[in-house]
Amino acid sequence: MNENKSKYIVMPFNFKLFDNEHVLLVNDAGDYYFLKTSDFDNLINYKLDKRSAIYQDLNSRQLVSDYNDIDLSIELLSTKYRSIKSFLRNFTSLHMMVITLRCNHKCRYCQVTSEVEEAYKYDMSPETARRVVDYIFYSPSQNIKIEFQGGEPLLNWSTIVSTVDYAEVLNKKYKKNLEFVICTNLTLLDEEKINFINNHNIAISTSLDGNKFLHDKNRILRNGKSSYDLFIEKLELARKMLTRNRISALMTTTIDNIDKLNIVIDEYIKLGFDGIFLRALNPYGLASKYVNDIGYPIEKFISAFEEALNYIIEINIKGKRFIEYYTALLLKRILTPFGTGFVDLQSPSGAGIAGVIYDFNGDIYPADEARMLARMGDKHFLMGNVFKDKYIDIFNGEVISDIVKKSCLDAMPGCATCVYKTYCGADPIRNYLETKDIVGHRPSSNFCKKHMGLFDIILNKLKNNKEEEMNVFWSWISY
Ligand code: SF4
Repeated sequence: MNENKSKYIVMPFNFKLFDNEHVLLVNDAGDYYFLKTSDFDNLINYKLDKRSAIYQDLNSRQLVSDYNDIDLSIELLSTKYRSIKSFLRNFTSLHMMVITLRCNHKCRYCQVTSEVEEAYKYDMSPETARRVVDYIFYSPSQNIKIEFQGGEPLLNWSTIVSTVDYAEVLNKKYKKNLEFVICTNLTLLDEEKINFINNHNIAISTSLDGNKFLHDKNRILRNGKSSYDLFIEKLELARKMLTRNRISALMTTTIDNIDKLNIVIDEYIKLGFDGIFLRALNPYGLASKYVNDIGYPIEKFISAFEEALNYIIEINIKGKRFIEYYTALLLKRILTPFGTGFVDLQSPSGAGIAGVIYDFNGDIYPADEARMLARMGDKHFLMGNVFKDKYIDIFNGEVISDIVKKSCLDAMPGCATCVYKTYCGADPIRNYLETKDIVGHRPSSNFCKKHMGLFDIILNKLKNNKEEEMNVFWSWISY
């Protein structure tokens, strides 16, 4: 046995009993492997035959290493690890601007608790927006995405126009990869706005919760008319006039559509969307107030997600390419060493590092959820204000420093030993909301339960390795 032991090194990895017959191993570079339980016993007791296919597989993933090759194994691991963490070099690329808190809707799950259309004092003024753009261009990142949010940002259209114009002028000097996105319910779109959107190559992100019945159930126009009817009218106008098809939609899962996700998916396909982001309810703003009316246990979301994912995969197998974006994102994390740019799944958390949000009055928060928390009365995550604080003090300040220190999964209780650590991320704001502590409490965390569940579903499919499903998955991550 000692002779065998000297033959290989078991490299660091996390693991769990995946089913009765298999143990799942994942290392810090994201390489995974399913081992039969008997082979796992052999592995950790240094009884694996080095000539076996299993040993070669483990070796190629740096889960074991020959003594002679240990330097090379560490070098390969660290190269992959550096790629996974490359988002740290791209400091703050997503900049969200709250153009107004006013909205013509009063959705039952509204996370920011929007204001009535006449409440102009909640608009971002052109002067504030200009100052925000100055701060955005201080960011060292070469990639800058400015996302206009609300309320309904189209209600403060003139500030959007002046912001885009000013950012484009500044960019002549800075020469960054500059992108714009407007997050809008579409209902105030008109030809003049679409022309501007075309001329400045702006992407549109909208919301759709299903067919007319499901959409109108929670997405409610303040004037009492159907939100869906107006949405469809404006979507058709946009599809007709937009020179590039740059409209994507997000859905929110409530108790009303959770058992009908197939209907929601059919609606997306009918309306020409090329994918869907199956999104669970977030516990902020009105959503927390109405949680008993529109919420559900997270376990219900996980099983509904699995059913919907299978439905979508079948659609793809039958020849229609249609992506479930969250699965695509998780697959990218599992199957490639490349970053996803997704702020919510990073370690340390992407809050403030990858993305930041500027409120209508110039206050800065590390994430949309932190701004929502402030709307609920708790300004714990306020980083500063563009009129009062210097860029360096805001982005090198205590709030960011505290988040970074307390959101590295390698040091977080529960996460440090979790087999999904490399693929997962920290949600310090949600942790704080639930426990008053940025580190949070994994056994009672719905964020954790949801991700455990979703990773289980996806890894199970990878284990089963059905050719048709794998073809669909690979087509999604190369989109
Ligand atoms: S949040 Fe949960 S699933 Fe994610 S790494 Fe931590 S323990 Fe694992």
